Amino acid sequence: MEKKIPHRFYLTEEQMPKQWYNLRADMKEQPEPLLNPGTGKPVKEEELYPIFCEKLAHQEMDSKTRYVDIPEEVLEMYKIYRPSPLCRAYNLEKALGTPAKIYYKFEGNNTSGSHKLNSAIAQAYYAKDQGLTSLTTETGAGQWGTALSEACAYFGLPLDIFMVKVSYEQKPFRKAVMQVFDGNVIPSPSNTTNVGKQILADNPNTTGSLGCAISEAVEKAVSTPNCRYVLGSVLNQVLLHQSIIGLESKKAMEILGEYPDVVVGCAGGGSNLGGLIAPFMKDKLDGTKPNTRFVAVEPASCPSFTRGKYAYDFCDTGKITPLAKMYTLGSGFIPSANHAGGLRYHGMSPILSKLYHDGYMEAVSYEQTKVFEAAVQFAKCETILPAPESSHAIKGAIDEALKCKETGEAKTILFGLTGTGYFDMKAYSEYLAGTMNDYIPTDEDLQKGFDSLPKID
Ligand SMILES: *Cc1c(COP(=O)(O)O)cnc(C)c1O
Repeated sequence: MEKKIPHRFYLTEEQMPKQWYNLRADMKEQPEPLLNPGTGKPVKEEELYPIFCEKLAHQEMDSKTRYVDIPEEVLEMYKIYRPSPLCRAYNLEKALGTPAKIYYKFEGNNTSGSHKLNSAIAQAYYAKDQGLTSLTTETGAGQWGTALSEACAYFGLPLDIFMVKVSYEQKPFRKAVMQVFDGNVIPSPSNTTNVGKQILADNPNTTGSLGCAISEAVEKAVSTPNCRYVLGSVLNQVLLHQSIIGLESKKAMEILGEYPDVVVGCAGGGSNLGGLIAPFMKDKLDGTKPNTRFVAVEPASCPSFTRGKYAYDFCDTGKITPLAKMYTLGSGFIPSANHAGGLRYHGMSPILSKLYHDGYMEAVSYEQTKVFEAAVQFAKCETILPAPESSHAIKGAIDEALKCKETGEAKTILFGLTGTGYFDMKAYSEYLAGTMNDYIPTDEDLQKGFDSLPKID
């Protein structure tokens, strides 16, 4: 008889992973190295020390170590909110009338409301361990700033957060949550940095962008003694920390006697998707499970994978970070003010970019009204109010399940539900009132971003 699978399944403390998994160790073809924009040569680990703390710089460059021990202090804090549940979306399956089995890994069960705490804790821990006395960062929708504030409060580190101006204005309560955890929140672009002043002079009405907030945070870090910068997505180190999502999912599915045919995740900078797919992608790369499909879902308003170029680009608008080879819309691309703030980044993780480029992954994009339609259907079925970012993955999973309905195939679908949407009620209100727009950039809009790409190949 088939085992009855619970709505929500939790690993025990003993079953929880004690190591992160580094997917690069199993990639036969490596992502292209970071380049120093001054010399055009690959960046050395030591060159990253002024920006990142040393252990994290090492993780950034380390493509060899397959499994990395999670420090005891990090595991202790993980235990407060992990394992996260692996959920079976029985009600959604029924509502769709699909033969597919839909699973999702829910990462919204902590105050930051997202998966971002998984990396925030690790980064704050390594900074404290090195004896640093403050950190800076940027935040888009606010989830990363909240997560890092929580982690910094836990380890006793002061934190400056440059928050993309549109989110600062749309989500005042996010700011308040960060302040609860002693985070110092500054709307970006601001006149507290040279690069912020420059961006404001060039474009006084800008609503800001992640790339621009990153420039400000990096400048502040390198000009403040014993301070470093931390980033909540895109980087290899962040994907490493987020592998906890995939490792827990895989273990839980193993215990339930399941394995996904399709893994779906939303893609902003690629950290949750990279973390979710890592151990499953390992099986595809080594030939154990060659047929698993991986689908990245992004907003039509910021289509890095589906309409971007695979090229070397700056990670920030101010052009002060190293160059990364990635799918990008150009660091000068400023997306329209859509509601999935966490998916408004111009670039994409170099690891995922390489996998996508080599054909191991697919990507789709959706307009935001379609995404909210999926969000509302999901909320009614599953009692979770999803974040707009996460709802991209929901929409992707629903479409996969509907394909199964047509073909009659009972596939197993796993998607990442990265967080909750309680700070996005303005967006939900607009959707329900029918006043939400779907802005899709024209080819000319995108060309402006591509024109900002550095001339390197
Ligand atoms: C930040 C965020 C994302 C996107 O970031 P990735 O690095 O692409 O994972 C997705 N969902 C939520 C809830 C977020 O906060």
